[in-house]
Amino acid sequence: MDENSMAYNARIEALRKDEFPMLHDGIYLDHAGTTLYSKSLVDAFAAEMTTNLFGNPHSASASSQCTMARIEKIRYRVLQFFNADPAEFDLVFVANATAGIKMVSDAFRGFSEGFNYLYHHASHTSLVGVRQEARNSLCLDTDGVNDWIERGELEPSIDCRQRATLFAYPAQSNMDGRRYPLDWGARLRGTQPNPSCQMYTLLDAAAYVATSPLDLGNVEAAPDFTVLSFYKIFGFPDLGGLIVKREAASIFTQRRYFGGGTVDMVTCTKEQWHAPKTQSLHETLEDGTLPIHSIIALDSALDVHHTLYGTMTDIALHTSFLARQLYRGLEKVQHGNGQQVCVMYSTSPDDTDAGLGNGAVVAFNLRTCMGAWISLTEFEKLAVLKNFHVRTGGLCNPGGIAAALGLEPWEMKQNFSAGFRCGNEHDVINGKPTGVIRVSLGAMSTLSDVDNFIAFIEEFYREDRQPQPVSHNVPTVNNNGSEVFVDTIMVYPIKSCGGFRIPAGLPWAVRSEGLAWDREWCLVHPGTGLALTQKRYSRMALIRPSIDLSAGKLRVSYQGPLPESAQKEISVPLSLNPEFFRPVDNPRSTKTRVCGDGISTMIYKSHDINTFFSNIIGTPCALARFPPGGSGNSMRHAKAHLQSHQTQPSVKDNVQSHRHGIQTPPDSDEESERRRILLSNESPILAINLSSLAALNRDLVKNGGSPVYAETFRANIVIGSSSSASKSTPEILAYSEDEWDTLRIGTHNFKMLGACRRCHMVCINQNTAAKSDEPFLTLAKTRRFNGKVFFGVHMCHIPMVAPDTREAQSPTISIGDKIAIDPL
Ligand SMILES: *Cc1c(COP(=O)(O)O)cnc(C)c1O
Repeated sequence: MDENSMAYNARIEALRKDEFPMLHDGIYLDHAGTTLYSKSLVDAFAAEMTTNLFGNPHSASASSQCTMARIEKIRYRVLQFFNADPAEFDLVFVANATAGIKMVSDAFRGFSEGFNYLYHHASHTSLVGVRQEARNSLCLDTDGVNDWIERGELEPSIDCRQRATLFAYPAQSNMDGRRYPLDWGARLRGTQPNPSCQMYTLLDAAAYVATSPLDLGNVEAAPDFTVLSFYKIFGFPDLGGLIVKREAASIFTQRRYFGGGTVDMVTCTKEQWHAPKTQSLHETLEDGTLPIHSIIALDSALDVHHTLYGTMTDIALHTSFLARQLYRGLEKVQHGNGQQVCVMYSTSPDDTDAGLGNGAVVAFNLRTCMGAWISLTEFEKLAVLKNFHVRTGGLCNPGGIAAALGLEPWEMKQNFSAGFRCGNEHDVINGKPTGVIRVSLGAMSTLSDVDNFIAFIEEFYREDRQPQPVSHNVPTVNNNGSEVFVDTIMVYPIKSCGGFRIPAGLPWAVRSEGLAWDREWCLVHPGTGLALTQKRYSRMALIRPSIDLSAGKLRVSYQGPLPESAQKEISVPLSLNPEFFRPVDNPRSTKTRVCGDGISTMIYKSHDINTFFSNIIGTPCALARFPPGGSGNSMRHAKAHLQSHQTQPSVKDNVQSHRHGIQTPPDSDEESERRRILLSNESPILAINLSSLAALNRDLVKNGGSPVYAETFRANIVIGSSSSASKSTPEILAYSEDEWDTLRIGTHNFKMLGACRRCHMVCINQNTAAKSDEPFLTLAKTRRFNGKVFFGVHMCHIPMVAPDTREAQSPTISIGDKIAIDPL
């Protein structure tokens, strides 16, 4: 720490108690949201208010004239604060940064041919929202902007000669504090040599100006429009500013609205005409009565701020010093096993390639020693108790959050649809956090704030225990010496349609309701709401869905013949964006019956999607989706794909099978009935044993039939075993699954729920959709117990009680995972 910082720090420490009595012993670390106001500021403003009479402007009275003069003086002073020459720039007072953005957006909206809008992905939602007004809009990352600057053009639809083009970006991200070049606008203009190009830049300086000087001294390089909020610099008043380069002021003549304060004359009856004010730009834009007292307070704010903290350069030096300390301190905190506690999202102060680096903000998330994410809500509970004022969550910065957390757009929408909203309890979804912790430092932060915060993280989040080593190669103890493993993983995204084989090497998520994306969709009769099944519409077997996670799409093709004109393939977004679905105002229209259970599904609106399926099935039908987060009984049954006859209670009797002399395997109905009480979140997955399949196929071939495949039984997990190692290690026995109690796949435990009862659906050839009587006949001879035919076994994932590893928090299985079996 150099002498200057030390002196600054000492000065602030001395001031703290007197200036911020509202803080008590708390530590305020949310300066990117707002800044603390000091007692001196409030006192100075109170003195102004009680010694002067500020009349409403627009009259000749002395008090009114006094107000007008003061406001113009302050306007001038604020421009100077940003080193903006009043001959080149004008300042428009607005409510906040957002209001400034809206004012620019309104002006562009006035262009009859509309406007193009480009915005950087780290934009605050206030900037993102402008896209709704634009004819074309595009979100760019930093590489995208640099590309654009280099090549001088983007895609054909964004042509600045055709229509005005606005480029907006933050000077500093409010999410992680990253900074972006202030001269991007000028460089862009430099690459657009065509004079007819109407290209403008909007700089969101709201986060940047809180701790840094903004210098608009170079008019050429300055953005056309700059927005900011004064409360983020001074804490008070609640006021914003829009600084307009006069050269760009003409766009505001497009603005349609006018109101008190911005017009000279208006006629209403007979003729509708008005004469907008023309003397100065701010007069034409400041609708209604100015927030006079707030503007007056700005004068006090500028005075007091300078007295307490010195110049913005002093503040910038101090806060960036603190931010470096904080970053390095948090980065250093390690669990006993050497794992880092904090996952950092801000740029490292030691990263020399990081361009402009970071403002006085550190964004991060916390992890346990086993790599599981700490819930933001849980963190916040502790932080509140310890009197830290920090911000957590999505921070109004969708692009920044998505980039930092690696969230795909469909995942964000998915989270939203699953009931996640900023600030709710479920902030770790499917193993990914949904927000960040943001610590931001201000002029009045001190080194001890930083030290205290780091100590707090160490005290509560550092774990010293040595974690149990996790091995993915679980010894296969109870497998009679044979190697048992996951041979195939399949999901059936659309109920009763073809399967999707999970590629080797791709870890597949196991969710509370089954394997990820398994039976997420179904086809329904639009009239009755009944779910269609292969039993009735065997062609459904030839509908081939596949899940493309990187594109966020379910792709569906059809293996059978289609009419010439019909679409051959469709894709359906994985996102649960409510726009895709029919409104639910008529509850009857969305009640679907699946295997006798009434459940609510969401029906897609898209004509193309529904026509695609109707053409295949040959009868009108619609694609529907199961509601998110379903954990009710009916939902489970629908997903578990239990046959309707299975929902009848059946009495288990241990009658010995005369054929094989083994006991009736436990029936999944009774088991699931029991399980319902045991586990609130069972996850039904259907497993089959390849040894059993081989045994069945031997019987089928012996009777002159052809072999069948795992798809026939709609298996999710196909269990293989090998005996090739040596003669003394036999394969696991056919139908030994009847006697399994639990399985361990990799590091995850599964409970067997009982054998799966079969119906004629197994007789539909999944490659041709042709129906026959096999393998049901053979099964009826070899696998019938007490009149019921069984093949395969239902099981569910047993979640860990306290998931403290990444893998436990978001369990996955992969092809080749080793399996250990515990018999009954
Ligand atoms: C705070 C902030 C905004 C919004 O400011 P308001 O005063 O709430 O309108 C916009 N952008 C950034 C970068 C911010 O930090």
